[in-house]
Amino acid sequence: MSVDKGIFHDKQRDTYDFHESAATPWRSDDEVERYVPTHCCYCGVQCGMNLKVAGGKVVGVEPRYDFPVNRGMLCPKGTTVYQTVNHPDRLTSPLMRRNGKNSPLEPVSWDEALDTIARRFRAIQGEHGKDAVAVYSGSSMTNEKCYLMGKFARVGLETRHCDYNGRLCMSSATGANDRSLGIDRAANPISDMLHSDVIFVIGANVGECFPIVTSWLWQARDRGAKLIVADPRQTPIARTADVFLPLRSGTDSALLNAMLHVVLREGLVDEEFIASRTTGWDEVKALVEQYPPERVAKVCGLRAETIIEAARLYGGAKAAMLYTARGLEHQSKGVDNGVAAVNLALATGNFGRPGAGYMTLTGQGNGQGGREMGQKASQLPGEREIENPEDRAYIASVWGIDEKDMPHAGYAATLMIPAMERGEIRSCFMICSNPMVSLPDQHTTERALRALDFFVVCDFFFSETCELADVVLPGNVWCEDEGTSTNLEGRVIKYNQAVDPPPGARRDWEIVCELARRLGKGQYFPYQSAREIFDELRVATKGAKADYFGITYEKIDRQNGVFWPCPTEEDPGTPRLYEDRFGFADGKARFHPITYLPPAEEPDAEYPLVLTTGRVIYHYLSGNQTRRTPFLLEEAPYPWVEIHERTAEQLGISDNDWVTVRTRRGEMTVPALVVKSIRPDTVFIPYHYGHSQAANILTNPVLEPMNKIPEYKVCAASVTKAVHKPDWAEGVDPARLRAARGRRRRLPSTGESQGPAVR
Ligand code: SF4
Repeated sequence: MSVDKGIFHDKQRDTYDFHESAATPWRSDDEVERYVPTHCCYCGVQCGMNLKVAGGKVVGVEPRYDFPVNRGMLCPKGTTVYQTVNHPDRLTSPLMRRNGKNSPLEPVSWDEALDTIARRFRAIQGEHGKDAVAVYSGSSMTNEKCYLMGKFARVGLETRHCDYNGRLCMSSATGANDRSLGIDRAANPISDMLHSDVIFVIGANVGECFPIVTSWLWQARDRGAKLIVADPRQTPIARTADVFLPLRSGTDSALLNAMLHVVLREGLVDEEFIASRTTGWDEVKALVEQYPPERVAKVCGLRAETIIEAARLYGGAKAAMLYTARGLEHQSKGVDNGVAAVNLALATGNFGRPGAGYMTLTGQGNGQGGREMGQKASQLPGEREIENPEDRAYIASVWGIDEKDMPHAGYAATLMIPAMERGEIRSCFMICSNPMVSLPDQHTTERALRALDFFVVCDFFFSETCELADVVLPGNVWCEDEGTSTNLEGRVIKYNQAVDPPPGARRDWEIVCELARRLGKGQYFPYQSAREIFDELRVATKGAKADYFGITYEKIDRQNGVFWPCPTEEDPGTPRLYEDRFGFADGKARFHPITYLPPAEEPDAEYPLVLTTGRVIYHYLSGNQTRRTPFLLEEAPYPWVEIHERTAEQLGISDNDWVTVRTRRGEMTVPALVVKSIRPDTVFIPYHYGHSQAANILTNPVLEPMNKIPEYKVCAASVTKAVHKPDWAEGVDPARLRAARGRRRRLPSTGESQGPAVR
């Protein structure tokens, strides 16, 4: 990665509405010619913003006060996102290795790049079968592009292997929603929080990963809501929680079962709701009787009294919201954890009312829409199923193909990697993904991608994954096109185009349609605009669970977003689900008994600590954009390992020491950030960095059996003082990190972690 040091940055002026850069020289007295209302493209909150345009360039941003989710606020990522648009690192020409894998990537014309791709895909499919070429897509793209990628795979390439990076993000949430509630969407709008008297957040670092949601939390607190937080780290919102449960990573379902045990024992279940709106309670009731808090406390590393206090608080609420995110879901038992959370909410009748519900906070910008548009291995648009004969026939009719020609289910993204390694998948078209940072067990991922005969990546910045590609295609950033995105509430919003892509780059959908044409499938991809793709996807989702048929661009503008399902143009949309019925044919939610099972890897003599990974406020996912944004890079320039001061003392480690973290997959050397805000048996590394700074060198690729999400949040690790500094240590002053993260040091001890720090 390179960052242009010439980019202007003045911390004093780094407010939401005033930036300038060497790439977009702009003086404060210049006239802003246009304000383009749109949304931040980063996290699932999808805050409203106005982009400032002058001289054909995006020169600044201000938050929108009229968008009800952020109402005049943006986080550090949102205030700086516009700096990616004119960044000097933008890719502006296709790159290709003309003479094999060992030749350099060099600029080529679009014609040469696209003709080469079409020729190589045809040759590989001719020799090894259609399924030898895979599509690996992303969820930070518009609904239109997500829809297009699923269609391109099944119609353009006729391959069954199509999946996306939401597999690494939202697939546990999907599994739990589908199993328990019958609809894969947040149950409530975010504003419902203001009607809750108790809010329970488990496995969600709201303050850093969904910063603007924090303001809703504080407003709810101002109105008297109590806050329960469960997390192995004392995250920013945990600091002021009424009850903080610093549980051991990977023990979420045990905690949730124990809370339900207390709720049951103390007569706090909602018998009427259970009887009229659910099935399966008796099995769950029998199971949770085996989870008394006194026993579970030892499993979770908590005090039984704290579990009881949390359960009484949640169970006694008139209206409680339960929020989860990747902390609970990035586990080999991620679906079970989500189901256990839903069990607790169902047993207490917390669904279908203002302030009562359950919500998995989506990490990627379009983490919700991206999982509905038919780019998943077993899915067709609208959350239709690729193995369901009726769904196949309907989508085949929309696409104008014979149902017999529709491929069947393929590999999940995480299963594509071993298929590449063993030569079953021999080529891949990848868009909007950076697995050389984001997939676990990076050494295996690199081997698999290098094993491909032919690898194409479409992106707007040169990522770590582009380094392994045979062809790189320069695409567009979010404000160079229009299209829709679905935020963490299920609200469909619209990006408006502010500027054109820079000369040499093209819009992603234009690239894919042109490639389809060169593959001889142009008649299926006749679109002249994103709007035309949207109009087709409306029809494709008609009558499905995720029904977008009644949503139009005009209606989104008029209503400031439309919640799906929205079956007709007269329908205003559905902000709150489950008011009358759940998503199954009989209208009832499903209880499922969840037996606690430990994580795949537990600490032992060789690896005595638990490693967990996650995000920081300054970076988005693999960091391919935010590491190029000067202010964000300055605040979090490289990874570190957070380690409790007691553990550090036992290991002879001081703050700022270089330490080596080892797991069964590999090792990395980073500075130590000695804190009081993490369990003594746990260490944390942020995952936004590449190469030897990638936390995913260490993580465990073991998968959740049903939905195939990796266990990013728990593996066994050791930490020792480093013998050598890493290759990137030159010029790095870890004390600078302390200055940036200093506030965390002064937090009070969690006080609840039990047992020796290092076992
Ligand atoms: Fe809003 Fe998320 Fe963008 Fe921050 S990153 S401004 S919270 S959408």
